[in-house]
Amino acid sequence: MRKNLLCFSLLSLFSWGVSFGQSFNERYFNGTSYIFNDIEKITQSELFTTFKYEFGLGNNDEMIQTNNVVTKDGKFTTKYEQYYKGYRVQGAMMNVIGDKGIVKHANGFLVKGLNIDTQNIISKEDAINYALSYFNADLYVWEDSLYEQALKTELNNPDATYYPEANLVITKKKDNNIPHSPQNYRLCYRIKVEAFEPVISKNIYIDAINGDIFDQIKPHTNGQTYDNGTIWTWYNGYHTNLGTFKCDLCIRYALIDKPRKITTVKYKHNDEFNDYLIKDANNNWVEDKRKTAASAHWAAARVWDYYLNRGRWGSNYQGKPLRIQTEHPIPQNAHYEPKSYLDIIALRQDKNGHSVAMLDLIAHEYTHAMIYESSELGINQDFDALSLNEGYADIFGMKIEGYALGYYDWTFAENMGTYQRNFADPNTDFGQYYTNNGPNSGASAAYYLQPGYWSSVNPHANGGVLRKWFYLLSNGGSFNGNTVLPLGIETSSDIAYITFNWWLWSNVTYPQAANQKVMATIAHYGICSNEHKQVVRSLRAVGFDINIPNCFAVVIDGPTIIEQEELYESSITWSANINEITDLNGKFTWYIPESWNVTTNGNELILNDVINTNSQKIAVTYSTDTGFISTDSIVVHFSDEIWTQTNNMPSQEIIKNFDNNIIENGIEIYPNPTISDVNILINGFTTKADIEIYALNGNLIKKLTTYSYSTIVDVKDFKPGIYLIRIKSGNKLFNKKLSIVR
Ligand SMILES: [Zn+2]
Repeated sequence: MRKNLLCFSLLSLFSWGVSFGQSFNERYFNGTSYIFNDIEKITQSELFTTFKYEFGLGNNDEMIQTNNVVTKDGKFTTKYEQYYKGYRVQGAMMNVIGDKGIVKHANGFLVKGLNIDTQNIISKEDAINYALSYFNADLYVWEDSLYEQALKTELNNPDATYYPEANLVITKKKDNNIPHSPQNYRLCYRIKVEAFEPVISKNIYIDAINGDIFDQIKPHTNGQTYDNGTIWTWYNGYHTNLGTFKCDLCIRYALIDKPRKITTVKYKHNDEFNDYLIKDANNNWVEDKRKTAASAHWAAARVWDYYLNRGRWGSNYQGKPLRIQTEHPIPQNAHYEPKSYLDIIALRQDKNGHSVAMLDLIAHEYTHAMIYESSELGINQDFDALSLNEGYADIFGMKIEGYALGYYDWTFAENMGTYQRNFADPNTDFGQYYTNNGPNSGASAAYYLQPGYWSSVNPHANGGVLRKWFYLLSNGGSFNGNTVLPLGIETSSDIAYITFNWWLWSNVTYPQAANQKVMATIAHYGICSNEHKQVVRSLRAVGFDINIPNCFAVVIDGPTIIEQEELYESSITWSANINEITDLNGKFTWYIPESWNVTTNGNELILNDVINTNSQKIAVTYSTDTGFISTDSIVVHFSDEIWTQTNNMPSQEIIKNFDNNIIENGIEIYPNPTISDVNILINGFTTKADIEIYALNGNLIKKLTTYSYSTIVDVKDFKPGIYLIRIKSGNKLFNKKLSIVR
């Protein structure tokens, strides 16, 4: 290959240096988030140290990294939480996104200018006593010894207890009308109080300085009230993959799914079953309450697997257990409540023949757990953020139901007899909402601030905007004067998942979230990509004022961060994409740094070598005979940061658990977990064997016949997750779980 060394003097065309006189915010903040596309290189370790004060943080503030996901090619998404004098500022966080240790985006919410005394505070014991004397319940949950003992047994932790945790946090009153200014924040003990008599499930905030009750809130989110309708039938049918457990001491089976860390229990144990574990002698769960519990338990396993297939082992990536409580005396259908070591989904009792043990509802509640562990949408009761939280929970409620059942119905909680919420037309949602006009006075909004449907009291109603957006993005269609071409539900749910995890924050508003969806899509699919265009159109359709991108322009496509080693191993290529420009006869002119050795070939730029690894700007111009000129430029950084891929699935633990009861001497599978190939050895092989690989939802993914005792199966194209390998050889049948990680 002929190598051309092209050098241009660029100073006349571009301003290369740092823009002096601009503040950090002016340089990087676009109104909703920070974009680091300047010539200055900022590494992940510098962001909240060297540049800490640029974000408005002070000497007493610190950003602590809480979760960090790094892919095999170095892309990272990291969450940082704000601490003031060592105490968490509730809801204050930053999401940081980048590549090979170099930051590209940051978004979030910080409380700046805090000035809080943390020295003279009351003790934890006093704070709990103040909280308990305020409620003065007859029977707290931890006073029920059997219930308390069952928790210790289940979690295999003698210290596990329902006695309240009291954690010091800096927080403001959970009132949407009180602004997030620093003087509204106090240091408080956050105490979760649960009682049986009367039924209490509340977080109470005790002012750590004077012991006053600062605030109290009910569990984070809950479903809507529902009390009648047509007869419910058990919609999941009969399944043989219900995760149950028969322990030495238990004579009967219990709803304990050991591999998945899911347990389904009764909230209270004052009925015929003697204790809180729901048991069945022959594992068939036919009696009504047991059937409801088993339905919920089966559904929870499907939801767990969906998130596992997204690389998420429990809501906190580290196998946080999930507890379903049935027969809960709550007035709503369901609620989600986090504890530090456990996610709890509470389901109300069956009423009028209706059970709420529905797949989409369980998926909705568990999605709240995912959001709680990521963007904490609405944790301070900011109303838009709460509405977004409900909208995402509905989207993944419906999506996960479809993942498990094989089809998408685009409704939510339809198993109640009539659907509660609808994606295609949120205005037709079941009209039980409490809206501004009182109970049962409205359905849901289909676009932002829609008169008569937008609610300042019910976040589920406003979640309709997100549902409608997702419906249009997945299926396409025209709405509100905008036409959207379909991206399909898989791509759309990827965009939704990425956004709620890494591009939103606790008090984000609906319009900010709309901008962030666009940012997330550009970052993952490219500017002027079809995904970008359809996300913009679908957001405009549901009432957000987002400009249609001008794609009648040239855009450089290629890496912006290059690992130094990569450079020595192979050449790096960029291409200039002309998008919607119709004149294809123009010419490309590349502007390349003097220290680079490159080859150009029309719209392609190949970097062969560099003299130094300073950050550089490259640019391209596309010009036509008719005088049309379009230019694009990007900054390229060279990374010498140390980064390693994170493994959020402790695969050894998963394998150990899944293989508990299906160990077969007849086959050997290795490596397991695997990345791309798996070797299968069949002992006692005769003439041929059939190998089938199933996803955990039961779908057959791959099927082959082997005529050898040893076979290598290529699983490169499989998504990371757990699979079942089933082998038929002669009259023998073997099952083994396979874990694929990347
Ligand atoms: Zn909800």
